[in-house]
Amino acid sequence: MPGTGRPRATPGRRSAGAARKAEVRGTHASKGARTAAKRAARPARALEARRTARARGRPRFTPPDPARVAAMLEILERSHPGASTALHHENPLQLLIATILSAQCTDERVNMVTPALFARYPDAASLAGAQQADLETMIRSTGFFRNKARSIRECCADIVAHHGGEVPRTMEALLALRGVGRKTANVVLGNAYGIPGIVVDTHVQRLSRRLGLTRETDPVKIEFALMPVVPRERWTVFSHWLILHGRQVCAARKPRCSVCALAPHCPRVGVTASQ
Ligand code: SF4
Repeated sequence: MPGTGRPRATPGRRSAGAARKAEVRGTHASKGARTAAKRAARPARALEARRTARARGRPRFTPPDPARVAAMLEILERSHPGASTALHHENPLQLLIATILSAQCTDERVNMVTPALFARYPDAASLAGAQQADLETMIRSTGFFRNKARSIRECCADIVAHHGGEVPRTMEALLALRGVGRKTANVVLGNAYGIPGIVVDTHVQRLSRRLGLTRETDPVKIEFALMPVVPRERWTVFSHWLILHGRQVCAARKPRCSVCALAPHCPRVGVTASQ
């Protein structure tokens, strides 16, 4: 302040003495301190708000009761005895190729195409060296034939280059093959090598939610959510059971709940119309 000789306090801030007096009076030391405290509390408040919003919109998921799961597995086993893959194959390579072809296509259609394909290209080396145009022509009726032909050629080239022409038998090595994802890898591991794996296709995706086994929607998250729910030795056959049950009873549009053997144990999550 001119003429006083005393340093002027920063506008908006209290001097140390004023802060001490305020502290004695039981009030906050300064506006700056209040702002700092508010800022410090912000992350905690935001987290709490997010938790509340999540809790309001999405009720807490209760893991399925093991006794209910055991009862459902028993019913599925009885309802679908001898369940296995419908894709015709004589070795792991043929199953791998048939599985690639089965994307967005029926198993019946794939089984119509593969005999001629495997007769002309009997191993990974011949498939890797196949002409793209020739492969496309042979598999055209399975749909997405350009991408599928490329995937077949590329993954077979990887099998020849890195695995001596044999389909590898680990998830890691299978996933490293071009054109191979977790679903295809689990089909090969479970059905060609007897190594348990949960195959999450559209039926498994739908049924696992309706049955209240998970509320995940992403196939990989569903696979990992089902792992602790279903005994490991039944992972492969469990996938076959759900696929068959989805095709025969628990249809996407109108599930046939009135005749479903699982009905007493099924919470029918998300089902709005049924027969
Ligand atoms: S009761 Fe209905 S929703 Fe549940 S599995 Fe059976 S058909 Fe599907």
